[in-house]
Amino acid sequence: MAIENWLGSLAQQDHTHVDGDLEALGGLTHPFLTDQCAVNQIQCLSGHLGALKRVVRRQVISYSLYIRQLDRILDAGPRSVCGAGCPRPPVGCCNADHYVMFSSLDLMSAQRSPLALHMGHVIGTLQRLESAHSLKQGQKLRPGPGYCQCLAEDGCTMRLFKSPRCAHYLCGTIRQAMQDQQEADVAPFLAAMSDTIGSPVTSTLGFMNPEVISAAADIYGSLLA
Ligand code: SF4
Ligand code: SF4
Repeated sequence: MAIENWLGSLAQQDHTHVDGDLEALGGLTHPFLTDQCAVNQIQCLSGHLGALKRVVRRQVISYSLYIRQLDRILDAGPRSVCGAGCPRPPVGCCNADHYVMFSSLDLMSAQRSPLALHMGHVIGTLQRLESAHSLKQGQKLRPGPGYCQCLAEDGCTMRLFKSPRCAHYLCGTIRQAMQDQQEADVAPFLAAMSDTIGSPVTSTLGFMNPEVISAAADIYGSLLA
């Protein structure tokens, strides 16, 4: 599997904190991931990021666990529209470098914490590693007028470290399709996704929103690990 392959390729700098990180993060609920998946991800990233400040390292790992769950949720339904049903062909919303961690809204916020900046910087470094690994594994970039630099012919070159903007964006067509196709009430999920993308990142917690995951559990219960 591509994600495990990349995680396994990460240089292991320092294993000192792996046990502590597993204890702190492994016990948290990741309803859309199996325990084995979460444990492996925590171990690989903890060993790779071992030299970082604990709070930043753990938030970065938490972010990756969160994005992996969200990726799974979107793959299970919402992204089915992105092929033939996309209203903005040929590359839909990957028409600019949305991987950049801080949006203009974030940059205008005077309250952004130094830790959030540090976390964004670390994620930016991991994005480059993840994207480069995908290309090495055979994905081919899809260069084009203004297209995102991380866009390949078959989609994004990242799975774990998409930016909050990429991870939470749902266009109007997808929103409508979810409302039309899902029997469950999708409004809380759609609201949580919009709230997250619409709020400036002022702290390390601003990159992710647990309400997205809990609302998704009401719609995609069959995916729960
Ligand atoms: S989210 Fe919407 S605009 Fe973006 S690729 Fe999917 S269908 Fe197209
Ligand atoms: S990072 Fe990935 S999802 Fe985001 S715009 Fe680029 S190709 Fe699209």
